[in-house]
Amino acid sequence: MIEMKGVTKKYPNGVLALRGVDISIKQGEFVYVVGPSGAGKSTFIKLMYREEKPTNGRIVVNGVNLSTLKARSVPLLRRQIGVVFQDFKLLPTLTVYENVAFAMEVIEESPAVIKKRVMEVLELVGLKNKARMLPEELSGGEQQRVSIARSIVNKPKVVIADEPTGNLDPDTAWDIMDIFEKINAQGTTLVMATHNKEIVNTVRRRVVAIEGGCIVRDEQRGDYGYEV
Ligand code: ADP
Repeated sequence: MIEMKGVTKKYPNGVLALRGVDISIKQGEFVYVVGPSGAGKSTFIKLMYREEKPTNGRIVVNGVNLSTLKARSVPLLRRQIGVVFQDFKLLPTLTVYENVAFAMEVIEESPAVIKKRVMEVLELVGLKNKARMLPEELSGGEQQRVSIARSIVNKPKVVIADEPTGNLDPDTAWDIMDIFEKINAQGTTLVMATHNKEIVNTVRRRVVAIEGGCIVRDEQRGDYGYEV
């Protein structure tokens, strides 16, 4: 599903953010990515949806070799991968419904299909009754639920989240986690970079720890393993 072989990322300023990373993630897995700030977690995640390109090495996602992917094929890849950010990245002038529908309109689905699917995902995240509201009228947790709805509306095989609970209080973080669990239970692969020790140590899943650009630990049902 996701394969990295000998992946190195050096930024133009000379920072070596990843050094020879090898990993294999199977369809349907739930993987936490942990590690101190600056370890390379975001870079690792950005490489998976081709926000960044590796300096060396091979990355295959969903059978697509990202190293040889043409620029014009990148949008097609992005539609097959749901992405969730710490700061939600919703469009402020669009309603909840429109923010989610937008992701489908760009793939030219019919209005009837779009409406049915958008309401379906809004129901899944518990926001059907707020479809007409603007992002600014919602709490942080609700905004994150909109962004999760958006990430899954095109039925991607994989959802990648970079610190999705980083801006949320502990109870809200758990609500978000419940939604990710539901999505994963439906067979979607989930990769989530997180600093949320409580979640990682309670809902035991595969833990990949990155330090100094290297994978230093990779355990099934692992724990968070850091004091901070
Ligand atoms: P983490 O997500 O674990 O905090 P990052 O992947 O964001 O780590 O960063 C890894 C290293 O790469 C850090 O030293 C960071 O400063 C550097 N870095 C991240 N993005 C860029 C960039 N666009 N240009 C230059 N250096 C970067």
